[in-house]
Amino acid sequence: MSPLSTHSLMDITARPDAVFVRGERSWLIDHRGKRYLDFVQGWAVNTLGHCPPEIARALAEQAAKLITPSPAFYNEPALQLANLLTRHSCFDRVFFCNSGAEANEGAIKLARKWGARHKNGAYRIITFDGGFHGRTLATMSASGKPGWDTLFEPKVPGFAKAALNDIASVEALIDSETVAVMLEPVQGESGVVPATVEFMCALRELTQRKGLLLIFDEIQTGMGRCGTLFAYQHYGVEPDIMTLGKGIGGGVPLAAQLAREEVCCFEHGDQGGTFNGNPLMAAVGVAVMQVLLAPGFLEQVRSSGDHLAQRLAGLAAEFGLPGERGLGLLRALVLATPDGGRIVEAARLLQPVGLLLNAPRPNLLRFMPALTVSAAEIDQMIGLLRQALHQVGAQPRAA
Ligand SMILES: *Cc1c(COP(=O)(O)O)cnc(C)c1O
Repeated sequence: MSPLSTHSLMDITARPDAVFVRGERSWLIDHRGKRYLDFVQGWAVNTLGHCPPEIARALAEQAAKLITPSPAFYNEPALQLANLLTRHSCFDRVFFCNSGAEANEGAIKLARKWGARHKNGAYRIITFDGGFHGRTLATMSASGKPGWDTLFEPKVPGFAKAALNDIASVEALIDSETVAVMLEPVQGESGVVPATVEFMCALRELTQRKGLLLIFDEIQTGMGRCGTLFAYQHYGVEPDIMTLGKGIGGGVPLAAQLAREEVCCFEHGDQGGTFNGNPLMAAVGVAVMQVLLAPGFLEQVRSSGDHLAQRLAGLAAEFGLPGERGLGLLRALVLATPDGGRIVEAARLLQPVGLLLNAPRPNLLRFMPALTVSAAEIDQMIGLLRQALHQVGAQPRAA
């Protein structure tokens, strides 16, 4: 074990005893020097993998220039990033923050403000069973994660839950106090469950007809993860508000809330935060955006996503598993048994090279590699996963 004690950290989750000391693109290296092929990437955060030179350079250059002038002043990287985001999306304005949950809090506040202004105080936001929007009190209340409905009572009121891909369940919840509908285009934490194109189109039509805002939480699906810059572009449906987190910072804490001009009704003093839009993080966001916008990059993500899907489907056929699903490089392999946790552990413990995966549900493995992952690394991952499946006793089908 590393000589450092882990007891001085609050115990909030079970962690393996490895201490990670270095990262190189698709690879993580622990304190013993063991290498791991990383298909978690900080929870779909490291858009360009670990320690890409673009981010190291942006951080070093910006750190030597200006770190934090104060959120009360403009700075160049925040303006550059906001300009890039609005130029390449359907939104007009951006508010930067430090985490996905904070971006969603901002989206909830903006919707409530808009309801107070334009809809007679309507404040209710319809969210979805299985949805995940963060770990603050309001975003936990907005989430539909099993078990959370009784945690940290009392809940923040105003988040009725509909069923994903069931437009009638949404319509049934709309009342005079409803102001918005909020969802992930692909539910990430609940197991990579994509909304259907028909559902998204019906949702846009319904919200428009009822005068409601449509909010997309693209914290996991945005920034190229699903093969388009933002997942709403895949659906051909434009929301009124969108939140970004995770991949926008390529590994550093950065998030954003975007909205159309008509919705931007914050008054001075309504919204803010000490580190919001600081130039050090924004400079990294600019570096990430520039890579995503380079010619051919998103095409490459789509073809890597296709390759991963095909290889996972092959493995599912080989082991008689139910199948795979997802969008772009956010994918899941559905298992026949609740062995997800055991497979994740067996994969990590493989020698000489480990594999890092995540099982958001016991019967499912999630894959969120760097968007720069190579076909060879995907193939290597499949080989390692096959070994891990064997180790937990999965049997290939007789040929
Ligand atoms: C991760 C995630 C969040 C929360 O982001 P944090 O940065 O952990 O606060 C919210 N919504 C979705 C869809 C996420 O995947």
